[in-house]
Amino acid sequence: MSDAVLVVGAGPTGLAAAHGVASTGRRVVLVEKESVLGGAPILSGYAKLVPSGEWAKDAIGRMVKRVEDSKLVEIHAGTKVAKLDGEHGGFTATLASGKTVAAGAVILGTGFTHFDAINKPEWGFGTYPDVVTTTQVEQMIAAGKIACPSDGRTPERVCILLCVGSRDRQIGREWCSKICCTVSTNLAMEIRELSPGTDVFIYYMDIRTFGLYEDKFYWKSQEEFKTKFVKARIAEVTVAPDGKRLLVKGEDTLVKRPIVIPFDLVVHAIGMDPNEENPQIAQIFGVGLEKHGFLERGEHYTSTFASTRPGIYVGGSALGPEDIDTCIAHGLAMALRAVGELNALAPKAA
Ligand SMILES: Cc1cc2nc3c(=O)[nH]c(=O)nc-3n(C[C@H](O)[C@H](O)[C@H](O)COP(=O)(O)OP(=O)(O)OC[C@H]3O[C@@H](n4cnc5c(N)ncnc54)[C@H](O)[C@@H]3O)c2cc1C
Ligand code: SF4
Repeated sequence: MSDAVLVVGAGPTGLAAAHGVASTGRRVVLVEKESVLGGAPILSGYAKLVPSGEWAKDAIGRMVKRVEDSKLVEIHAGTKVAKLDGEHGGFTATLASGKTVAAGAVILGTGFTHFDAINKPEWGFGTYPDVVTTTQVEQMIAAGKIACPSDGRTPERVCILLCVGSRDRQIGREWCSKICCTVSTNLAMEIRELSPGTDVFIYYMDIRTFGLYEDKFYWKSQEEFKTKFVKARIAEVTVAPDGKRLLVKGEDTLVKRPIVIPFDLVVHAIGMDPNEENPQIAQIFGVGLEKHGFLERGEHYTSTFASTRPGIYVGGSALGPEDIDTCIAHGLAMALRAVGELNALAPKAA
């Protein structure tokens, strides 16, 4: 019986789980494949997070520091679990680095992969340099300048296309990525703050700024920052006759008329795909995948965050698109489950 818990992935989910386990006094072995901890918000250089408005490097940086400072957390970065033997209470993980670690339970916080906008070729990403993704705009905002990659000019007009790689059955992605409406309405405000002369349009099917985000992001973006919302079905993005600007062609679905509008910068609000490594992760850890390729949950209500294998828990965006707050809650809940079930396997002496 090992008293340690193995946490795989050091994004918001894994960091919360590692902290949660350590705060009960148990040891944690944290394995992260990248050399840097923090998950997508750090690896992709997000700017200010929704809904807190705090810079990602500060907010997630605090989560990283808390784990790095813990004497109970042993960190293995830049490596993966290559093999897992044993069972609940007595797993042995062999890392790609060759080291072996013992753990009584395993928490998977292996996250998601950003949709690759190249898979939506008719919308111009990969063809025109001034078609970019929300993650690229996050990086521009973090660097303090909004510019067209083709020639560095400040864009007069920017359009953000929602649901790129989400809610699109033609390319096998039926799910809503949950966070991109809110992120995009926030990006529109951030663009206007950096460049007040830039007009921002958002092309949408539906706006899903759920819960309290409706007021704080959708209405604020529209009323205070003058973001223009266009309900449309996009057909294609091509280059304008001046050879410089981009034409966004589609149908305005409210008035049912074709629309063609020129823009300097077109932004794809990319969705959250299953982690592209999930088939290998499923095989190594002996857990299931759901039909879209996210990791499979066990029974929801009395075995929350169980995977399909005893002693292995799964949560956060490994299960499907989630925001950071939810991922943190999943991480803490998994910590409670992992520690609680290990205590039940080997009750501490009174
Ligand atoms: C453009 C964009 C902007 C966003 N902005 C916000 C925002 O402002 N606010 C918000 O709440 N949410 C935002 N999100 C959502 C946010 O990114 C996720 O909620 C969050 O990153 C999920 O955390 P996670 O730990 O589950 O996964 P991830 O962040 O993906 O972290 C998973 C970690 O596991 C590691 N990993 C993966 N596979 C392995 C493996 N086999 N072995 C070891 N390690 C592995 C990865 O390297 C990574 O470090 C945004 C999403 C997008 C697409
Ligand atoms: S959150 Fe908005 S942009 Fe993202 S997939 Fe859902 S509806 Fe589309």
